[in-house]
Amino acid sequence: MGGTRTLRWMVIALLVGIPRATAENPQVRHVFRESHMGTEFKIVLYTTDEARASRASAAVFARVEDLNSSFSDYDPESELMRLCDRAGGSPVPVSEDLFRIMVQCGRMSELSDGAFDATVNPVVRLWRRSQRTLQLPDPESLRKARELVDFRQVLLDDRNRTVQLTNRGVKLDLGGIAKGYACDAALAVLEGQGIPCALVGAAGDIVAGDPPPGKEGWTVGIAPHDDPESPPTRYLNLVHAAISTSGDTERFVEIDGHRYSHIVDPRTGIGIQDRLMVTVVAPNGVTADSLATALNVLGPEHGRDLVRSIPGAAARFVSQTATGLRVVETSGFHTLTSLQVQLEDAASP
Ligand code: AMP
Ligand code: MG
Repeated sequence: MGGTRTLRWMVIALLVGIPRATAENPQVRHVFRESHMGTEFKIVLYTTDEARASRASAAVFARVEDLNSSFSDYDPESELMRLCDRAGGSPVPVSEDLFRIMVQCGRMSELSDGAFDATVNPVVRLWRRSQRTLQLPDPESLRKARELVDFRQVLLDDRNRTVQLTNRGVKLDLGGIAKGYACDAALAVLEGQGIPCALVGAAGDIVAGDPPPGKEGWTVGIAPHDDPESPPTRYLNLVHAAISTSGDTERFVEIDGHRYSHIVDPRTGIGIQDRLMVTVVAPNGVTADSLATALNVLGPEHGRDLVRSIPGAAARFVSQTATGLRVVETSGFHTLTSLQVQLEDAASP
């Protein structure tokens, strides 16, 4: 969850409609930004009440910070790390949020046949060190770390809301799912404060609620795959849905001419070497975020079946091959997008 990152491959231009002024009580667009979880969280919302907007955004950021103090694997005092300190012991009672995100980790681990695995932390730590030293992980350390990676060592007890890590040394990493979860939680806070018309984004993860006034949805632009810095040419209309992008564009290490992504294949313990960027649309942030990470491991050929198995999910894979860029989209993704250009409303995040 550390390190600021901006995903330039997909320029996320939020093209938000200007509310039609109904004279006495117009809905006004408000934007709030704050740094959390090592990145910038952005809230865009519509309300008629400015004071309510400020209160609600403060409540959102407090909620996200609270989640970070539960989920961080950088903070040795986080709830997650204290749970990991007790690996190999008896079941540990956890907060509702930690339990819920662990259930989602289990679901994605199962659906992706282990491509998404939140026990990947020991391996991820070795690769984080590689990013600093520019040396490959020592093979023996990598072998030992890899032996600790297997989500089946995580036992969840729904009735008692406990998590048991069955082997000593098992360490969790929620970096591939926490931001999606946090964006979902943020929207829930806004809805609870009477602001259903909102969108929350954190780096490559965006979750949308009710559409802006007078609009069908929140328009998210996708940059042309061959020129990520250019203005978007395709658009998605998001309503009660999420979009996440994951890949090796900004976080990777290059050693001896090979490039390794910060996303690792749990089966080999090696950072993904295919130059790949995956964009996913799904019904909620927690699914979109974890699915985009899983699809980086699986690639377009093996990933398609996973996408099909999740209702409401669609994906776009852009791989850099020896002969140029290759784009693969699931049929759902294609039908979600339009070429309609609405640049007069464009506003970059
Ligand atoms: P994202 O940018 O959402 O794809 O998340 C990447 C982060 O997820 C990495 O920085 C790791 O902390 C973590 N991670 C890496 N590989 C995996 C994996 N195979 N399964 C689950 N989490 C992973
Ligand atoms: Mg992810």
